[in-house]
Amino acid sequence: MHVLLIEDDDLVASGLEAGLELHHCTVDRVRTSREARGALAQFGCDVVILDLGLPDGDGMDLLSSWRQQGVATPVLILTARDAVQDRVRGLKAGADDYVLKPFELDELAARLNALVRRAAGRAAPEVHHGELTVRPDAGQVLLRGEPVSLSRREFALLEKLINGRGALLTEDQLKDGLYGMDSGVESNALNVHIYHLRRKLYRDVVVTERGLGYRLGPPPEPLTGAGS
Ligand code: CA
Repeated sequence: MHVLLIEDDDLVASGLEAGLELHHCTVDRVRTSREARGALAQFGCDVVILDLGLPDGDGMDLLSSWRQQGVATPVLILTARDAVQDRVRGLKAGADDYVLKPFELDELAARLNALVRRAAGRAAPEVHHGELTVRPDAGQVLLRGEPVSLSRREFALLEKLINGRGALLTEDQLKDGLYGMDSGVESNALNVHIYHLRRKLYRDVVVTERGLGYRLGPPPEPLTGAGS
């Protein structure tokens, strides 16, 4: 999942970035409301982690303005402000969750996954595509019951396709999900990940719509016959 982290404290931010990458996330980090507006508009993301005390304003105001503009991306407020009235204000401003610092990374990651899952219209933590099973929380993929080892980027690519549920995704949308704001990605890097995903799973897992983009293909063919 692609996370936009809005946090001005470098120590908190670097800890979060490292921790969330271990939880199979692509993390873009910004320090101010202004940077956050630009990043969300340009790159998008699956979920936002929002600190409230930002150098150029209150995160609550940023959230309110996003919601007024119709931005529906799930937002988790991560703050030291523990007063009940702050929590209520945050949720009323359009936050989807409110977590206090200090926090447990595992719990935070689980909450982020739950938000993304709900935003994608799923209640169950597992996604089944025929005999392909994806467990975003655990970063696991099973093909016909057998675990398949994917790199972080391959997993991010598969997750993006699965969450798209067959919708056409442009090359830029996929790259944003895999690399976030890391520009300077070589143009064939995405192709390399697609190649590996097809090789490790099955050829039609990614369908190329020439000149348009990519989408999730049909589920894997069931194996016929036993003992072969
Ligand atoms: Ca702060």
